Formats: sequence, structure tokens, C-alpha cells
Amino acid sequence: MLIRKAFKYKLEPIVEQEIMLNKTAGCCRFVYNYFLKLNIDQYAKDKTFVFNHQMVNMLPELKKEYPFLTEVFSQSLQTAVRNLGAAFKKFFNKQSAFPTFKKKGKQDSFTCPQKFRIEEERDRIFIPKVGEVKYRNSRPIEGEVKSITISKNCGKWYVSILTEQEIQEQPKTFNNPIGIDVGLKEFAVLSTGEIISNPRFYRNLEEKLTKEQRKLSRKEKFSNNWQKQLAKIQKIHSKIANARKDFLHKLSTQIVNNHDIIGVEDLCVQGMVKNRHLAKSIADAGWGMFVNFLEYKCLWQSKTLQKVERFYPSSQLCSECGSKQIMPLHLRTYLCKDCGTTIDRDFNASKNIELRALKLAFV
Ligand SMILES: [Zn+2]
Repeated sequence: MLIRKAFKYKLEPIVEQEIMLNKTAGCCRFVYNYFLKLNIDQYAKDKTFVFNHQMVNMLPELKKEYPFLTEVFSQSLQTAVRNLGAAFKKFFNKQSAFPTFKKKGKQDSFTCPQKFRIEEERDRIFIPKVGEVKYRNSRPIEGEVKSITISKNCGKWYVSILTEQEIQEQPKTFNNPIGIDVGLKEFAVLSTGEIISNPRFYRNLEEKLTKEQRKLSRKEKFSNNWQKQLAKIQKIHSKIANARKDFLHKLSTQIVNNHDIIGVEDLCVQGMVKNRHLAKSIADAGWGMFVNFLEYKCLWQSKTLQKVERFYPSSQLCSECGSKQIMPLHLRTYLCKDCGTTIDRDFNASKNIELRALKLAFV
């Protein structure tokens, strides 16, 4: 089985390199937006679109018209055009919305499909037309490198290295099953009895965010100070997103390493987010992202992620004897009328999810 992985590192460009990075991202955004507009205009005129290869073939002409495009790596421009083609294809297949114009400062990125060179021992990566850029080499790259994508987030540059790797599919085993119940107060409760809390520093950042947002509302809109404050807030947002991702990566890796079959509730996250009481903890906690991480990490290790049907009454069943009783939300302890088992509500639910997942996996 062929699997793809992405390895992301922080870049440490010198001033001249940063200028070129900005320029390349800017030119890629320019051609992307140029061809998007061309498509919109042509469609308005005669209800047709410009094909992928037509757009790529038009690039040389475009360079004559806009000479600054020749200063950057041409294959990155081609990739930007192909990305637009892919976005259109997704739209036609009803997999995503109509492509939108890329904005400066929000989508600064470009891809190099070839001609780059990674020197892991020297912590350097050669980016065509940019030069050898130092990167923070935090972990070794695995697999065959296919392409690199360079992106900017909150003023910092990153490289994401896409690799492919052939792995032997191993026979699946079903040792150490685990059930995970999504908590409201806590992030999750595991059927091993472990309670996973939301990281504290993350809460701290949130408090800071509220404070800074209040400051913003007191400033005159679009003034210099307002702009500065907005940048500060965007930085906190990105810090929160990173902290969340980091937390979810560590947790999912740990669970997949230690368990062969993992049961989770098949939550309709969007539906729950609409419910205001549940909204905050679930949207924040990134449950959807967590399940996604579990899913692909299970695939890498030939393990099983078993989703338990949405309306399975995991809170209402006794995990010891299987009898069922109504459990209003305020009841924190499950006291079984049939067998007398007394157990924490969420712990009981996580055990039921584990049992259900095992059953479903063997059907
Ligand atoms: Zn019971």
C-alpha cells in the first residue's frame, strides 16, 4: 500500500531569500487569480471554461505581458495553475465550493514539484531561484520525497515536504481495544479509565485572546493601532491552532501506538456545533480533526478505527450487564438498577463504545 506523509518544518531564510519567497508566493497568487478571473469572464460570455492544459499553455504569453513573472521558478507557476484546475474539478464533482480569489497575507504559498534539494545533515533545503535556506530540522524525513510546499503563516515561513512510502500491509490484530467517549467538560474519557483534559496553556491563550479582542473593540477601526492590535490577535489565533494540533497529534499517536482497535462515536460535529451548549467545547476541542488523525494513523499502522453509529445509546447501557436505562444529562454517575454497578457516566459510555466497536469490527 502506498501512503503519503507530509513533514513540516520552520524555515529560517535570510533577508534576500525572504524577498524571493514573498515574490514567488505573490506571483503564484497572481496567476491563480488571473486564470480564475479569466474563467469567470469566459463563462459569463459563452458558458465554457478554460481547460487545465490551455491555462498552462498560456503562461509564456502571460510572462511577456507581465515580465515580473519570469523572476520566479516557472514550475511553481505551473503548479499554481494546476491547483486551480484541480479546484475546478472538485467543484464540478460537487466536492467543494467554487474556487475563490487568493488573498495576500492569507494564502501565501507555492509548491516546487522538482529541482529542489534537501540536505538533512546540513539542515538546508535548496529552493529554486531562492537558494539554500536553513530549516529547523526537528525530525527525520521518511519515504521518497515528491514535492515541497512553502507557506507563510503570521510572518513565519514553513516548508511542508510531501513523501510517498510503500508499506507492507500487515494482518490486522485486535489486541488492546479501546473506546473513546467525547467529553463535554474534559476532552475525552477512555475506556482504560484515563481522563484526557484540554491542555491548560490552551485555556490561558483563550483568556488572553478575549482580553486582546476587548482592546481591539476600543480602538478606532482601521487606524494604525487597530491594525497592530488585529495582527496581535491573528497571532494568538494561530498559536491556539498550533497548540491544538500539537495536542491532538500527540494524543492520537499515543493511542494508535498502544491499541489495535479504536472505537469512537460517529459524531455529526457540524450538527453539534449548531447546538449552542455543546458548541464551544466540541468546536474548540477539534474532535473532527482528532478522528481524522486517528483515521490516517490507523491506516499507516494497519490498525482499525471503528466508528460506532451515531445513535448508539452508549450512555444509557450498563457496560457490565447490558441493561438499559434513561440517563438525563445531569446524572454524572451510572447506577445500574439490574446489577448494581456504580460507574462514572462517561467512563461507562467509553466502555460501551469499546464493546460496540469490537462487535462491529467482527461482523
Ligand atoms: Zn448492570
